[in-house]
Amino acid sequence: MEALIPLILDKGVHIQLVTSAFRPLPEAWASVPGLNVVVSIDGLQPEHDERRKPATYDRILTNIQGQNVTIHCTITSQMMRSDGYLERFLQFWTPRNEIKRVWFSIFTPQRGDSMEEILSPAERKKAVADMLSLRERYPKLDMHPKMIAEYLTPPDSPESCVFSMTTKTISADLTTLITPCQFGGDPDCGSCGCIASAGLKAIADHKLGGLVPINAIFKASIAIGRMVSGEERVPAPQKANFPILR
Ligand code: SF4
Repeated sequence: MEALIPLILDKGVHIQLVTSAFRPLPEAWASVPGLNVVVSIDGLQPEHDERRKPATYDRILTNIQGQNVTIHCTITSQMMRSDGYLERFLQFWTPRNEIKRVWFSIFTPQRGDSMEEILSPAERKKAVADMLSLRERYPKLDMHPKMIAEYLTPPDSPESCVFSMTTKTISADLTTLITPCQFGGDPDCGSCGCIASAGLKAIADHKLGGLVPINAIFKASIAIGRMVSGEERVPAPQKANFPILR
């Protein structure tokens, strides 16, 4: 990463680097323009340490000292069954100087999954209501209300997901493509809790001048691109081809 990051930034591309903070973050990352370091945390310390050992809270707190990071937590059903869980999470992380913001996603299953982490419709509504309320009292919960509300109406398929249509995901070998989105496999879009998908859907749902939805412009742009290229769909190459990494 230390070698790749300068190469990518030199191309004028913004980087969002998601890490467990299992090892100390390079000191310079605290102030690199265009680099946003996101530390992934699985809830409060007891739950996180159980799941993420050896990337424990103690280790993370040591490794992010002097940094300027975003904390990202994926909300699970277990969290929503514990009253005030999200607030306790914010109470722990937001007072710390190293934390510039906090983001919440919602657990996204594959179709047909029946996992304990999957939120019921009522828990999803409560999660959204909690986030909308908490952002008023915890400014570091840096999520626009429209984006939070999108968690209640996720896209119903990858073909209607702006995030899926505008991104390409490759695995750590920098060659293998993951489709249809970063979750891979057969994700249950109707239960999607991806913060990026929600953010782009909020933008797509916005109406320019109060009349023209950005989504319509986006879809027209995709259709024109496909018509010009003669393709029904943009073909997925067997191997990713990212000039930026050369
Ligand atoms: S990001 Fe969510 S909505 Fe988009 S394709 Fe993946 S699972 Fe479906």
